[in-house]
Amino acid sequence: MKTIGILGGMSAASTQIYYRELCNQTRDRLGGLHSPELLIRSIDFAVIEEHQVKGEWKAAGEILNREAKALERGGADLIVLATNTMHKLAERMMDGVGISMLHIADATAEAIVAAGLTSPGLMATAFTMEQSFYTDRLVTAGLTPLIPNDADRAETHRIIYSELCKNITTKESETIYIKIAESLIESGADCLILGCTEVGMLLNQSNVRAPVFDTTLIHCSGALERALE
Ligand code: GLU
Repeated sequence: MKTIGILGGMSAASTQIYYRELCNQTRDRLGGLHSPELLIRSIDFAVIEEHQVKGEWKAAGEILNREAKALERGGADLIVLATNTMHKLAERMMDGVGISMLHIADATAEAIVAAGLTSPGLMATAFTMEQSFYTDRLVTAGLTPLIPNDADRAETHRIIYSELCKNITTKESETIYIKIAESLIESGADCLILGCTEVGMLLNQSNVRAPVFDTTLIHCSGALERALE
């Protein structure tokens, strides 16, 4: 089994889900006492979030690049960057890194295409919904992503940073997220991308009526697939 390097902490709440999910999926697939070979580098999200807010993407890219190199030196065979938003800097992160990374948007697009769906609603941070680094990759895969309206995007973003990234889940926010998902479906979305690695803390197939694609879970199964090749 290859060693998966997880570059996480963005946020720590979702990195815990990666760890749990990779352990569960490995046990399900291999049985017995099997568990995944992992290297987890969890960084301080406050530093990253400050760079995001100030638009200091170059500085954030340098951190990701330094940490990806550290994962390679530490023995990782492949890298997963455990956040959708920071994939904005995926290219910079992998600069001079000799191992491969599994891009979260590509893995998600592949799963949607394989399911025969075409128009995913996207719930994510404002960066991921409003900039093109993520939606462009979905379009390249043949998909037509739909994003929430202004007010719903602001609300989706607020809940991610002020609650989910702090490991806080509330019934009120769950209700808001269900409503936002519903309006995307009413606007023509034939499925829903949980395009932020924390959104699965509130939404899943039991409270959304369209097929749900949780990027965290897809990223984990894609990484495990590669690790077992
Ligand atoms: N984990 C989130 C994502 O998947 C948001 C936190 C971040 O900005 O990295 O986009």
